[in-house]
Amino acid sequence: MSRLTLVRGDITVQRVDAIVNAANEALIGGGGVDGAIHRAGGAAIMAASDRIRAAQGGCPTGSAVVTTAGCLPAKAVIHTVGPVWRGGGRGEAELLASCYRQSLRAAREGGFRSVAFPSISTGIYGYPLPQAAAVAVAAIRDALSADPDAFDEVRMVLFSAADLEVYRDATLRC
Ligand code: ADP
Repeated sequence: MSRLTLVRGDITVQRVDAIVNAANEALIGGGGVDGAIHRAGGAAIMAASDRIRAAQGGCPTGSAVVTTAGCLPAKAVIHTVGPVWRGGGRGEAELLASCYRQSLRAAREGGFRSVAFPSISTGIYGYPLPQAAAVAVAAIRDALSADPDAFDEVRMVLFSAADLEVYRDATLRC
């Protein structure tokens, strides 16, 4: 039975089959979640990203690719690229929902039964947290109800207590 859980914490230490990275289209590494994952997971993650970039040119916004998790406790990292917030009229909500859907599709294809997400797009990419939380919760719930046996747990990992509260509100509202 699949379930959505919310925790406060650091995505890099989650003991799940796959963690999700808030990556950029070029898969070249950056700050925030991306920097933390590459620092903690070691060079193998960037080496795998380099191979994906060479083969397919990166990862378009709204899609997802899978690499090794290097030294992290997870078995794999699913890299997804959230939209940069440009006011909400540029398809941001649909692109953000696509990140969650495509990441879960990649997890299902890889046989990863537990998946941990950070709050995609709400850091450097500037997506307002309450709107992003509503999109994330709805997209995850839709995916879980479409395929209830695919996952044991989908976990949202929020970096601060304030972010956790916003996501908790979103689960109560939807
Ligand atoms: P984006 O570029 O998609 O906006 P960021 O990495 O800048 O992604 O931030 C996404 C969210 O992840 C932010 O809310 C940020 O506070 C949070 N965050 C940053 N580091 C971590 C971490 N180690 N674990 C979990 N969440 C994190």
